[in-house]
Amino acid sequence: MSVIHLLQADLELTGPASVAAPETVSIGSALLPSLPLSRDAWGNPHLPGSALAGGLRAHAHPDRRRALFGDPGQDDGGPSHTRAVASTIRVLGTRLTLPDTGGTRRIRHHTAIDPHRAAAAASTLHSRELLPPHTRLAFWLRIDTDAAGSPLVPEVVDLLRTWRPRIGGGRTTGLGRAELVEVRHRVIDLTTPEGLRHWLTQGGPGLVDEHAVLIHDRSRTTGTPPDEPLLFDPAPRFALADSLHIGAGHTLERSGKSTDIAQVLRDHEGTPLVPGSTWKGVLRSRVAFILRSTGAATVCGPETGAATGGCGACEVCRAFGWSGGAGGAGDALGARGQLVFTDSPLADARVRVRHHAPLDRVFGGARDGLLHSEEVVEDGRLTLHIRLTAGHRNGSEPSPVIRACLVLALIDLAEGRIGLGRGTTRGNGTLTATEPTAAWLAAQRDAAAHTLRTTVASRGLPGDAAPHAGPGSPEESGHQEVTA
Ligand SMILES: [Zn+2]
Repeated sequence: MSVIHLLQADLELTGPASVAAPETVSIGSALLPSLPLSRDAWGNPHLPGSALAGGLRAHAHPDRRRALFGDPGQDDGGPSHTRAVASTIRVLGTRLTLPDTGGTRRIRHHTAIDPHRAAAAASTLHSRELLPPHTRLAFWLRIDTDAAGSPLVPEVVDLLRTWRPRIGGGRTTGLGRAELVEVRHRVIDLTTPEGLRHWLTQGGPGLVDEHAVLIHDRSRTTGTPPDEPLLFDPAPRFALADSLHIGAGHTLERSGKSTDIAQVLRDHEGTPLVPGSTWKGVLRSRVAFILRSTGAATVCGPETGAATGGCGACEVCRAFGWSGGAGGAGDALGARGQLVFTDSPLADARVRVRHHAPLDRVFGGARDGLLHSEEVVEDGRLTLHIRLTAGHRNGSEPSPVIRACLVLALIDLAEGRIGLGRGTTRGNGTLTATEPTAAWLAAQRDAAAHTLRTTVASRGLPGDAAPHAGPGSPEESGHQEVTA
């Protein structure tokens, strides 16, 4: 091992990311988000190298993982996997560079909705601190070989080139998306005086100096690795029918003073936003509702384990993921879902402030002290991107019945039966489908209803179609009746 190859790879976040360090939360940090960013000893955001090594390992072909990234080994007494193997590729370190434009302190709040009361469930509010988009991330890999022309280095470079880095948590709600910007390669041959001098006199990032060769450059290559495939392609597009309020969890500031106007969630550029977590929550609950009310599948609900983060065994948990914990089924850690819901910025949106005053029931006038104000978004258009996670252990495609239920849930969304965000019972959050999406949904409706009908029939439950005798598809009239 006389030749050292150093690879410096630069990544750029294309959206916000959450590299959380929940272990840093102590009793004294009640005002901090429950999932704060991981930070180094100087308080700067930091990404552990293990986060990248794990992602890169998962991207490698299963047959090559042991050779490239080592193996912790299993002490099961078997002949092959008893001994641990060290990783050939070493991740030396990482360095985060925040963009000049924004600070890091972007907090996003999440909660869960209790399906019975249709309001936020108790003690489910949590918050994530986010890294802004365009954060640059450099990391250094070291590979030792016997000769300069080892095939190992091109293999690793190829692995990097075809990698779609996903960093940190919240990936199925669209967080942590990144792109490879460039890769530099520095060969240090310890058998030459030049190599030895460089190795002994330099250290840290300085080892990759001007003698390094640029072997990948995003601006010069055509076609970065494709994104995860879309479940519905082209992606459905909607427009706001009335107004939308998805709260940011804090109030507006005007000329340095805080007001009591509840602010809408915006992205790092200030554009109002429907976060991936809202799409995921609304569509998950609607899909579960359709499956439950038609009897197409047994799914977990509030009575069977939604409070503990899902059962881990039903169709909905498989497609949307579940979190473990006390009372969870299967492996207690939970599992990532098959579907990724990314953030939808609202194009051409106008943000206005609306005031609300509850009326006094006895006197009929506005009640004292209850005036409140909120920002709402009007007139925006948005696109829903549902993507398939690559390399999921349950296969990346959700089952046909989940796809059919998602189509029916989107029809419900387009027809105003469900809405997004806050105040859906007073007209907020209603969407309409744009012309092409409405046509596409109309064309998909019969096939989706048929899939659901055959699933119900194959389960052969007693009374599956009895209450729905009449024209039209039994499933649809079934779930519409319940809603109305
Ligand atoms: Zn479940």
